[in-house]
Amino acid sequence: MQVPAAFEYERASSVEHALGLLAQLGPGARLLAGGHSLLPMMKLRLASPAYVIDIDPLVSELGYVREHGDEVRIGAMTRHRELLESPLLREKLAIFTDAERVIADPVVRNRGTIGGALCQADPSEDLSAVCAAVGASIVIRGLDSERVVPIEAFGRGPYRTAVGDAEMVTEIRVPLRAGSGSAYEKLDRRAGDWAVAAAGVSVTLTDGLIERAGIALAAVGAGTRSAEAEAALAGRPPSQEAFEQAAAAAADGARPVSDQRGSARYKRHLAGVLVLRALNRAAERATR
Ligand SMILES: Cc1cc2nc3c(=O)[nH]c(=O)nc-3n(C[C@H](O)[C@H](O)[C@H](O)COP(=O)(O)OP(=O)(O)OC[C@H]3O[C@@H](n4cnc5c(N)ncnc54)[C@H](O)[C@@H]3O)c2cc1C
Repeated sequence: MQVPAAFEYERASSVEHALGLLAQLGPGARLLAGGHSLLPMMKLRLASPAYVIDIDPLVSELGYVREHGDEVRIGAMTRHRELLESPLLREKLAIFTDAERVIADPVVRNRGTIGGALCQADPSEDLSAVCAAVGASIVIRGLDSERVVPIEAFGRGPYRTAVGDAEMVTEIRVPLRAGSGSAYEKLDRRAGDWAVAAAGVSVTLTDGLIERAGIALAAVGAGTRSAEAEAALAGRPPSQEAFEQAAAAAADGARPVSDQRGSARYKRHLAGVLVLRALNRAAERATR
């Protein structure tokens, strides 16, 4: 199939308007952000929404990356390209810049949004691992409600999230911690392809010890966060020995499947290698 099933089209002019339309049209309605996941799914008839609510005009309301107290706040309609080019992210949360360099191609990055990427919840998607590593929270709004959900509670498995039928994601909040560094490592078969495996890491150093570590994987199955790998680092100095143990724990916990991108065994090995590389780069950034 190359043509979507028939649908009604609405164009939202504000967050309130989009939420009103979602409440009025019911579960048959889907938001259209950048369209780089939803439109292919509609063309393949994997999704056939009765109503498509275009939220592109919400870029003016929800397209931003800004520092707010001890957080960086990112609007849900912020495009991949804006994340890639953000000086604030490059300086304070370089994991986003690393990841955006290897997400898709300029055409996709010019349209695709962080809100759409997180809500699509593809198991190979990169920004979920980034947000998990840095311990982000997701702001979910309904007409009369607002919830701030930790990233661990946001993903409910492949293609499923905590966002309800009449709700939308409006913002991503990332804590800023002194003494922190972060990095993202991905292996893809061709430039801009989905990951064979990828690893996001964030470390916070206090008095020369690792106070907090966030380690998350993409494209290798199960939950994105690797609690065992994080525990292997807690309270230790950032040594190669500690990093290797954490990398081995992350690889052990990975549950990849064999497919055209590689065997499960290869992907598990790769996950460990990428975690080790990301840990070294994140620690180096934390001590700069
Ligand atoms: C060729 C190609 C290569 C790609 N490569 C990669 C890659 O290497 N790594 C990677 O991570 N991604 C990749 N992607 C996916 C890309 O990042 C998409 O932009 C992203 O998955 C979806 O963002 P979008 O804004 O286009 O969302 P859309 O397609 O518009 O929406 C996706 C889903 O999210 C919902 N949604 C959107 N916004 C909201 C919101 N604010 N609140 C609630 N629900 C919402 C929609 O209803 C829909 O169900 C690729 C895509 C393409 C086409």
